[in-house]
Amino acid sequence: MSDSSNPRENLDSVFGQIASAARAVSRAATDVTLIAVSKTHGADSITPFIAAGHRDFGENRVQEAQAKWPALKSGTVDLRLHLIGPLQSNKAADAVALFDVIHTVDREKIAQALAAEMVRQNRRLPCFVQVNTGREPQKAGIDPGDAEVFLAACRDQWNLPVVGLMCIPPVEEQAAIHFAFLKDLARRTGLTQLSMGMSADFETAVRFGATHVRVGSALFGPRDI
Ligand SMILES: *Cc1c(COP(=O)(O)O)cnc(C)c1O
Repeated sequence: MSDSSNPRENLDSVFGQIASAARAVSRAATDVTLIAVSKTHGADSITPFIAAGHRDFGENRVQEAQAKWPALKSGTVDLRLHLIGPLQSNKAADAVALFDVIHTVDREKIAQALAAEMVRQNRRLPCFVQVNTGREPQKAGIDPGDAEVFLAACRDQWNLPVVGLMCIPPVEEQAAIHFAFLKDLARRTGLTQLSMGMSADFETAVRFGATHVRVGSALFGPRDI
């Protein structure tokens, strides 16, 4: 378990694991972006990561991010904030204004709302389409069978800048199967980026081609909630 009081050590250790996993499959570690998932953690916990030079952070709630990140971002201009949680269409304007990458485009209404806001705010944010690879009823994401039609609509109808696919595998299944499926779907649809892998399975995700891993507890320590 990571020690929450050692941001630099935790970063070094996670980057070391990413490097080994990448090396094992002849990938460059620099092709993997480590997103430090700071949800539930306050500015005091985040600042040491910024001071250590880390720039990519992930939050899963727009409102929580709005309370923390404008101040943190104003102190460091090159921060990239990734939205990794489900988005409501009435929060699309706030999300486009605050975030730099959206990982959770999961239905038509959201795709359209984001596309409209990007035009209105003149901000084009790279987007990932979330795929519900485990077909779990309670989980967000496009059904794998609908993914190709949805991706075509994102590009051709809504002009949404989709760069890749994202998934959260079912907890009780082998993550590798889901990572391999997502990679194959990306290849078939001409997408190059894959947002997959969390604290428990990011090394596996890197071996299966992840370009973005979303790591919270291995960096910040356990969450209270
Ligand atoms: C919380 C969260 C993570 C990070 O989870 P850890 O297990 O703490 O690494 C990654 N992705 C999403 C979508 C999350 O909500």
